[in-house]
Amino acid sequence: MNTTYNILIIGGGLLGCATAYQLAKRRAGRIAVVDANDIASQASARAACLLTRARTKPALMEMVQETYDCIDEIESLLGESLELQTCGSITIASSEISRKGVEALEEAATRFGIPNERISREKTKALLPWIETADIDLSLYMPTDAFIDSAVLCNGYAQAARRLGVDFRTNQPVSAILTENGAVNGIALANGTKIEADIVVNAAGSWANLLMRPLGIGLPFTPVRSHFWISAIDKERFPANHPFTVIPDARAFTRSDVGALIIGLRESQCQSFDPSTLTRRLEDFDFNKAAKWQVLDECAPLLKRFLPDIDDLPIAHYMAGPSCYVPDAMFIIGALPAYKGLYTVTGCCGGGVAAGGGMGRLAAELILGETPFVDPKYFDPARFGEVDPFSAEFQKRCADARSNKKGG
Ligand SMILES: Cc1cc2nc3c(=O)[nH]c(=O)nc-3n(C[C@H](O)[C@H](O)[C@H](O)COP(=O)(O)OP(=O)(O)OC[C@H]3O[C@@H](n4cnc5c(N)ncnc54)[C@H](O)[C@@H]3O)c2cc1C
Repeated sequence: MNTTYNILIIGGGLLGCATAYQLAKRRAGRIAVVDANDIASQASARAACLLTRARTKPALMEMVQETYDCIDEIESLLGESLELQTCGSITIASSEISRKGVEALEEAATRFGIPNERISREKTKALLPWIETADIDLSLYMPTDAFIDSAVLCNGYAQAARRLGVDFRTNQPVSAILTENGAVNGIALANGTKIEADIVVNAAGSWANLLMRPLGIGLPFTPVRSHFWISAIDKERFPANHPFTVIPDARAFTRSDVGALIIGLRESQCQSFDPSTLTRRLEDFDFNKAAKWQVLDECAPLLKRFLPDIDDLPIAHYMAGPSCYVPDAMFIIGALPAYKGLYTVTGCCGGGVAAGGGMGRLAAELILGETPFVDPKYFDPARFGEVDPFSAEFQKRCADARSNKKGG
């Protein structure tokens, strides 16, 4: 295998693999992705997998559309299906404040050409057999929304990138990003090997700041716990591929899962983690799982209006993982001017499945000096000035971004 590349990408999750695919598609030279674990094995294997199209920020809608476009392209390139499940979505308002939020979403979706319609309580019930509709003021149905297995999507980007010539080095932890005279010149692996490159892209997800710290750079995000519960199977109440829901008044989303119901709930104070406490494999990290019933107890009363028997619903599984939250809930994509050739694509804010294709495209365009398809200023890594991602105060700001999140 080569030890000299034009571009090295650290991290084989959704963001690293999408970036590799977008660069390879643009014939960007010799590229390798290096991961400490297997491809698609960390946060990218833990998602609820919603590909929510409508957002109030137009740049985010462009990025999600790019992911849908990538799925079509990769299926054609590989000649196999990535099994996108076009189930539709329903966003539900039951208070004045969330009604305004849903109306803003409706307007944004209509402007962007995303099919949407207000549906009656009867139609809502027909599409969601489990829901209690008495308190619903407004249901907005978007029939083209979908979900996709995030690990399958990540492997799809990786396979497509491999087909276009990208090398993948797995189970090879990177110990340092190497620099000389104000420019990057490669990476060092934990086993002592050096790999040279003119450009290094840090897509190491929750761990990205550990590699930046020795360079004196703080990326403005911290890992924050995202989680969901999966009910026991009940195929009549939770039919396969019924629409996913976003219910801001309950701080909740739901999704079908082969006859079970996935329920995502956000605490009023989400939990952040100091990146220096993370283990190399998320399987070995606790995520304070012991608190899962406490969190369910805190959040369930809000969902009871829509799922009255939530207290008695048999729960079969719990899934927790880190999402990289940024204080303004926008991604971190671009150059780190302190070192020529150093870039990052991270700060997924719980949206790397939906927006990963677009995040990878913007990263590729910025690296190659192409005209960016969305305004990069919203994603500029330097937009907060100097930050210390290892400080408790900054970690709280990032956790608040998730606590205040309204969408799915
Ligand atoms: C419970 C949960 C639900 C979610 N639901 C959704 C959803 O419905 N929709 C959505 O869009 N998003 C969702 N997300 C977010 C989504 O999972 C993330 O946005 C996405 O996985 C981020 O990808 P990533 O590549 O940044 O991170 P990762 O997949 O974690 O990849 C980072 C990679 O970097 C590697 N790495 C780290 N350090 C090093 C090193 N020193 N050397 C080499 N390699 C290194 C790691 O091994 C890892 O493979 C959810 C997340 C969670 C946890």
